[in-house]
Amino acid sequence: MSPLVPNEIVDEILDKTDIVELLSSYVELKKSGQNFKARCPFHDEKTPSFMVSPAKQIFHCFGCGIGGNAISFLIKYEKMEFPEALKTLAEKSGVKLPEPRKMDPAKITFAEKLTETNARAAAFYQDNLNKKIGEEAYRYFRKRDVSEKTIKLFKLGYAQDSWNSLSYYFKSLGTGFELLSKAGLIVQNTEKGSWYDRFRNSVIFPIFGLRHKVIGFGARTLADTSPKYTNSPETFLYKKGSTLYGLNFSKEFIRKKDYVIIVEGYFDLLLPFQEDVKNIVATLGTALTPDQIRILKRFTKNAIMIYDADTAGEAATLRGLDILLSEGMNVRIATLPKGSDPDSFVRKEKKEGFLKLLKDSRDIFDYKIDILKNKFKSDTPGGKAKIANEMLPTISRLANEVLKSVYVKKLANVLLVDEEAIGSELKKVKKSFPYLYAPKNLSIAPQKIERASAAEITVLALLFDNPAFMEKLEKEVLINEFKNGLVVAILKHIKKQRDSKKEIAPSHVISHFDSSQEVENIVSEAIVAGESITDREKTFKDCIEWIKKNNQKFVLSSLQLQIKEAEVLKDSKEVGRLMVEYNTVLKEMQVKADVKKT
Ligand SMILES: [Zn+2]
Repeated sequence: MSPLVPNEIVDEILDKTDIVELLSSYVELKKSGQNFKARCPFHDEKTPSFMVSPAKQIFHCFGCGIGGNAISFLIKYEKMEFPEALKTLAEKSGVKLPEPRKMDPAKITFAEKLTETNARAAAFYQDNLNKKIGEEAYRYFRKRDVSEKTIKLFKLGYAQDSWNSLSYYFKSLGTGFELLSKAGLIVQNTEKGSWYDRFRNSVIFPIFGLRHKVIGFGARTLADTSPKYTNSPETFLYKKGSTLYGLNFSKEFIRKKDYVIIVEGYFDLLLPFQEDVKNIVATLGTALTPDQIRILKRFTKNAIMIYDADTAGEAATLRGLDILLSEGMNVRIATLPKGSDPDSFVRKEKKEGFLKLLKDSRDIFDYKIDILKNKFKSDTPGGKAKIANEMLPTISRLANEVLKSVYVKKLANVLLVDEEAIGSELKKVKKSFPYLYAPKNLSIAPQKIERASAAEITVLALLFDNPAFMEKLEKEVLINEFKNGLVVAILKHIKKQRDSKKEIAPSHVISHFDSSQEVENIVSEAIVAGESITDREKTFKDCIEWIKKNNQKFVLSSLQLQIKEAEVLKDSKEVGRLMVEYNTVLKEMQVKADVKKT
């Protein structure tokens, strides 16, 4: 759904786009019946489970569940925003988009204004560094061996020790507080209502987007206070979870070298970069997110992580590791000598030392097992179990089956336990939590919290194939009785379209919803599921039956809970009433089952 472009135009663009043609420039499509198959570009796999349907103009992966239409593909794979994806397809298909200015001047100019404000603020901070007030900051950079050239390239700057120097500067330019606040540059005092500069007495690191525009700022205080580092809050332009510091400068080098070095902080990146190790990005203290990794994957599939040799660094590495593996990256870990970070290490050991460190990087297994052996006693049964518990999720994420079995063997050797036991434990892991170390607020949930049931998906599939099923559906069950909220939303949309005698094309349905991935995944899953249904009438009946029964089961179990509660409260009258209700529902179910048997 786009607030800027009318739905009809979005539909027209989708109709004039051939998803097969579009995707064939990204993946190797092979004809398979009416559809095309390929190895999924979103997860690592050997046998193709990624499907493209020319008839329905959607794609779907059985492996990772990702799916959608042509627009969703560009959003998910190329990390485009909706308008950009739409524009790309409009150009390819020759559909004329409404003039951008006429679309929504407020929104477009807001992004432009924000970009301009950031650029001005960066220039202001940069300028300070050359002034007398910036002398200490300049010395600070030089003391940390940051060269003049690096200062210029990365547009490093200084925010002076003042509550309002930046505000005053922008006031003289006529920029309002609102814009500055939305750029994250000023903060409001909640008691007084007054505004003050966010960054004070700090050296400033502008954070760039992939196209070299300043989207946010990082600051390191020169005072003896903590925290040492502060960043811009999330803004319209700056999204923490999908930004990697330095990538705008390093992306071409990453592509050339075919691997990326991942570090944590600003200086960890600046010093190696300056020493000509340029295929490097920094995560800026946040744990790696799947979004960040998908952006990296456009440039390489190989990563070496370098983290501080402290405990915080270790935890961050472990977290990042599992996410990298899940996204199908090959990962190695370089460990720094205790007490040093990439920045201080490079300063001392120069490029040669740094390259040697990379060369000595270890494979995930060796790295993690050492940490776990320090953490738990590997010679006690309890310790062994704990080590296995933490190691197996990592192993299960490996895409390479051969490597997986090698690691199972290794782990069995380290723990002195039976290889088969490890193997069978591994099978259990795969089905449980996808990210053992992942923080709760991942921007992309790796797995749906409550999946739509197969029956619900199948009903959707039947409706897409033949909307006339809608009448039958409504006779049997209420749309609201479907368990999955998104399925309910899609059903309601289909009903609305049908009531107003509009066509129901799956690829259109997708873009009528807010760019929620779940809707796309559910719709594409339904389309794929629909293709293998032979007896549609019977399947429909069975599904509705299942949904009703499932609802009754749900009612029964909630009644059971209520009965228990009433029993605890010794409310015998209520218990009696609930029992009657419970038996009625139960009987209803049995009657139906009997009817079915005869
Ligand atoms: Zn996939």
